[in-house]
Amino acid sequence: MKSRYSLNLGRPFGIKVSVHWTFSLLIAWIVLISVSQGLGITQILMHVLFVLALFVCVVLHELGHSLAAIRLGGEVDSITLLPIGGMAHMSKMPEKPRDEFLVSAAGPLVNVAIAIILWIYLVYLHPKGVGEMEFEAVTAANFPLMLLAANLFIVAFNLIPAFPMDGGRLFRSALSIKMSRLKATRIAKDIGQVFAIFFIIAGLFINPFLIIIGFFILLGAKGEYEMIKYQDVLKNYTVKDIVKTEFAELDEDDTLGKAAEKLVQISDNGFVIRSEGDYAGILTKNDLINGLNAHGRETKIKDVMRKEIEAVHTDTPLFEVFQDMQKNRNHLLPVIVDDEFMGVLDIENLNEFFLIRKATQKI
Ligand SMILES: [Zn+2]
Repeated sequence: MKSRYSLNLGRPFGIKVSVHWTFSLLIAWIVLISVSQGLGITQILMHVLFVLALFVCVVLHELGHSLAAIRLGGEVDSITLLPIGGMAHMSKMPEKPRDEFLVSAAGPLVNVAIAIILWIYLVYLHPKGVGEMEFEAVTAANFPLMLLAANLFIVAFNLIPAFPMDGGRLFRSALSIKMSRLKATRIAKDIGQVFAIFFIIAGLFINPFLIIIGFFILLGAKGEYEMIKYQDVLKNYTVKDIVKTEFAELDEDDTLGKAAEKLVQISDNGFVIRSEGDYAGILTKNDLINGLNAHGRETKIKDVMRKEIEAVHTDTPLFEVFQDMQKNRNHLLPVIVDDEFMGVLDIENLNEFFLIRKATQKI
């Protein structure tokens, strides 16, 4: 999720936690439903408070996954809260079956822990006994018990083996012990998609949120499977296999206008920029278009090109580069060997390389 659509909530353990704008729709929906039921202001506030408390539990759930992942060598960028739940964005996920199992289990375990704490509170400290409570709506008296039940629901729901939900990940990690990760993911994905279709159909009759979750599972399962296929196909190759030694180039003193004219004649994602014949930086298509919009045609390339762009080495594994390119939205990278510039890596070539390898490997 892009940050401009999200409100930043803070950085616990260095992980950026934000809430997506659509979350406000959920709150609005709850208020609307409560008003239409003729509830008073205190009751409406109680409902909103309950949803907020629930989402704190969801953040803690995602932090559970995230901290387990970091502990096992993964990297977590951020956690985003959506109306259908939380999502942790990991730039590096632990892949060993055992590690993946632990990371997937850590989230639901947090909710189990919350439920236990609430249960202890209810039994030993809460002024009102569980037997005396009413459950028609959330009230100050039954709040902790309702929250406990909701946490148990989160655990049960997440354990449904619908990849990429937690249960599906646990299932895949168990399968990966016996077979390749690619095959395990394919089976988990297929089962996930059956659940997704079931959710979508059930959602039509029960709750529209199930429809959204169904689509989320369909797309998520497909996306992750594609990514693993990519990883599998590229695993034996490095940058040296597709480095381009012929590329479009310009001088740093050329104007953006000249670059724009030349752009239509090339198929690359941008230009290599030279200064007195030596490599000086990269001007991507996007840099060029943004530069033209912001500064006009007469601007010199050197004022908008990327000088600090991170170069890749010929020995770098292709999949690693591919992930970085996607994450940083750099679609053209300089390739360096022994501190010498030798060419570029273009994401288009990488995609073509993948398609050709995939076609010959018959995956
Ligand atoms: Zn989870």
